[in-house]
Amino acid sequence: MSFDVLVIGGGPAGLSAAINIRARGKSALVVSNPLEENPLWKSERVENYLGLPGVTGAELLTAMQKHAEADGVEFLAGKALSAAFMLDKWYVSVGSDVQEVKAVVLAAGVTREKKFPGEAELLGRGVSYCATCDGMLYRDRPVAVLGYSETARHEAEFLREIGCEVKYFDRPRDCVISGEGMVEQVLCGGETAKVDAVFILRPAMAPTDLFPGLGIENGYVQADRRMATGLPGVFAAGDCTGGPLQVAKAAGEGLIAGQSAAAYVDALARK
Ligand SMILES: Cc1cc2nc3c(=O)[nH]c(=O)nc-3n(C[C@H](O)[C@H](O)[C@H](O)COP(=O)(O)OP(=O)(O)OC[C@H]3O[C@@H](n4cnc5c(N)ncnc54)[C@H](O)[C@@H]3O)c2cc1C
Repeated sequence: MSFDVLVIGGGPAGLSAAINIRARGKSALVVSNPLEENPLWKSERVENYLGLPGVTGAELLTAMQKHAEADGVEFLAGKALSAAFMLDKWYVSVGSDVQEVKAVVLAAGVTREKKFPGEAELLGRGVSYCATCDGMLYRDRPVAVLGYSETARHEAEFLREIGCEVKYFDRPRDCVISGEGMVEQVLCGGETAKVDAVFILRPAMAPTDLFPGLGIENGYVQADRRMATGLPGVFAAGDCTGGPLQVAKAAGEGLIAGQSAAAYVDALARK
């Protein structure tokens, strides 16, 4: 099934966008990691969300997701990895699937981790962001997983099941990946592993890795008052567009981005 709008990120901005897309009669698919891996989940008290003082992050996120489910929003667990635009459609790869949609709302929060030396240079030459997509290329060979979530542990397990010898680094901060044209080794926190591939499994992707050509200012996605980015049919909302990095701002921008995405889909139909 193809959807009108793909929402990348299931936090407050993405969920708010999704219910507003549904409110305008369009279909919405939210792609995100499990709710428990959202950064807000761990917050013990959210004091400044209007009408709900003292709610926990987990309670707030659960209520938002239930609301979206009740409104007919569809969910897909996974990570959007890349996007391409062709003939008024966006093709977004999510794990090993591709979603064909008319518009996208980028609500991916902020990326806290910086890229490691060697990561960009060896991307596609042993460096990968998706074990279930690229793992088979390294079947029965030594690989490293740099894991930053519970989901990463499942992906490491998949690699073991297909015969890879897996060296798992748990949330490493300082790593260097090296090799002559292809990955040969990774050094994390003083420990070296000789490997043919390095799977870097962060919960979030840098917006420009997903959408090359996206306007960025001071590290945040540029968007106008309709939350439109410079790319056709791509809207952005929440922390990824800049401060204040707060739930109320994310939900408000999600509303605008959702309405704008739905209006864009209507305009496409009239073309
Ligand atoms: C501990 C803590 C306490 C906080 N307390 C408060 C508070 O009291 N009040 C307040 O207003 N704010 C608080 N915040 C800030 C608040 O959590 C954020 O402002 C809010 O969650 C932003 O919502 P968002 O939807 O833009 O992004 P997020 O909530 O970060 O959601 C984005 C989601 O998208 C996912 N994602 C990223 N890239 C991809 C991809 N390529 N494919 C699929 N999914 C992807 C991310 O993993 C994430 O789950 C707190 C934050 C933390 C960490």
